[in-house]
Amino acid sequence: AKELKGAAVVFEPEEHATAPNRLTVLGDLRRGLEAEGELFLHYQPKITLDGERIEGVEALLRWQHPTQGLVPPGDFIPVAEGTGIILRLTERVLQMALAQQRTWLDAGHPVPVAVNLSTRCLLDAGLPDMVQRLLTEHRVPASLLRLEVTESAVMGDAARCMDVLQRLHDLGVRLSIDDFGTGYSSMAYLRRLPVDELKIDRSFVLGMCTTAQDAVLVRTAIDLGHNLGLTVVAEGVEGAEHVDALRTLGCDIAQGYHFARPMPAAQLSELLATVGT
Ligand code: C2E
Ligand code: CA
Ligand code: CA
Ligand code: CA
Repeated sequence: AKELKGAAVVFEPEEHATAPNRLTVLGDLRRGLEAEGELFLHYQPKITLDGERIEGVEALLRWQHPTQGLVPPGDFIPVAEGTGIILRLTERVLQMALAQQRTWLDAGHPVPVAVNLSTRCLLDAGLPDMVQRLLTEHRVPASLLRLEVTESAVMGDAARCMDVLQRLHDLGVRLSIDDFGTGYSSMAYLRRLPVDELKIDRSFVLGMCTTAQDAVLVRTAIDLGHNLGLTVVAEGVEGAEHVDALRTLGCDIAQGYHFARPMPAAQLSELLATVGT
């Protein structure tokens, strides 16, 4: 059992029998970026486990393709990541998320918004300036923007990523480690990263009430996060039994279908107006 058995599984791209080919996706995406309203964001609330307040929201990209309907991000983001188009896509996502956040701020809801960054963006030395420019343009305080980066992204080319992450952190932007548990971060790296939140991958949360190993991993991640002074979020929380178990383990925040699915901005605005932040 010397092989790292999980490794091949984690990094293998998902196979979709029906997925259109790469070139078609790329061409359509270039066009979709120019088109009005094809790309938009849904927002999923992150809920505090003591008190059940909305602590923040995560922006998740949606693509309404003119003929193929709603294309899930897993079908086009990996393709975009293989080319420079991911940088334009990310700029668009930040633009949309910050414009929406400005609207919520104006309505009296200073809700932190999280945006996902792909690996490729972390290798782009121009990213921190782009983020600063967009924050200024939309008059959003840096502390209300959170950027989620996956564990494997950071571990891939840690030195280069670290520089970009440090500069983002210096702007006052908050950083999260996404999909925690699926990569190989050592404690040493985690301690050096300028992050303040750790999100436990939903595969472990899903199994935590039925599989002993998953339960151990979730508990270990929560303890590790807390020992490093990080806020710990469980993603993919689907059942009341998960909420109970996570609360018992002292997890800070939960995100998942049990509380709310990702929803259009208008619906989230209504939620903010009724429950507040
Ligand atoms: P992620 O960042 O790990 O986002 C969480 C995913 O889990 C979302 O899928 C969300 O809809 C889903 N989810 C939330 N709660 C539950 C639950 O209780 N059960 C289950 N089964 N799923 C749940 P989605 O929106 O399809 O996004 C998939 C992935 O695509 C994201 O995973 C992220 O890696 C990527 N992605 C989405 N939007 C963006 C973006 O704007 N930029 C980049 N670079 N990646 C994005
Ligand atoms: Ca995420
Ligand atoms: Ca995640
Ligand atoms: Ca994920």
